[in-house]
Amino acid sequence: MPTNPYGYTKLAVEQMMMQLVKSDSSWSVAALRYFNPVGAHESGLIGEDPQGVPNNLLPYIAQVGVGRRDKLSVYGGDYDTHDGTGVRDYIHVVDLAKGHLRALDYIAEKTGYFVWNLGTGNGFSVLDMVKAFEKASSKTIPYQIVGRRDGDIAACYADSKKAENELGWKTQKTIDDMMVDTWRWQRQNPEGYSG
Ligand code: UDP
Repeated sequence: MPTNPYGYTKLAVEQMMMQLVKSDSSWSVAALRYFNPVGAHESGLIGEDPQGVPNNLLPYIAQVGVGRRDKLSVYGGDYDTHDGTGVRDYIHVVDLAKGHLRALDYIAEKTGYFVWNLGTGNGFSVLDMVKAFEKASSKTIPYQIVGRRDGDIAACYADSKKAENELGWKTQKTIDDMMVDTWRWQRQNPEGYSG
């Protein structure tokens, strides 16, 4: 079951779609469960430009890297993970986009309700992410460990076998690709699209 209100909203929408298919079998529905999308297009032209203070980890780190923010607050250093910080399954946006294309091909041929996890199956901690970004950017990311954020859990990563077996899809990009592409976009757009 979901562990926070955001998770319940996802479940509610999946249930609505499931009931829709039950009530009218001509529908084809793919529910794609995203893990943690990050990165940017390798051209450096398309990236993530959150408005205001970024809520998500990598956009925040990238803004520290480019000098827009002083330091990262790491939400919790006492989780039951390899270094005490939260572990997530980060997926490159281009791999995620390709997963959509495979899912669309699949449901074009069939009716029904289908669900797939779109993740890598690997977990990286907050500090793993900081180190990987530092390597890609040659910047130092100052951080401080602060209290846990409400609603966060220790670790979350995908079982992506069903997507691999049924869609013939799996991620190809590495954590280094995610960092290099994020940094290229942030470096080329230090103030985002409005700068
Ligand atoms: N996180 C953090 N500092 C931040 C933003 C996020 O330490 O400024 C941590 C967060 O606690 C979680 C991970 O980074 O362990 C990923 O958080 P994000 O909000 O990007 O995605 P979520 O998994 O919450 O959807």
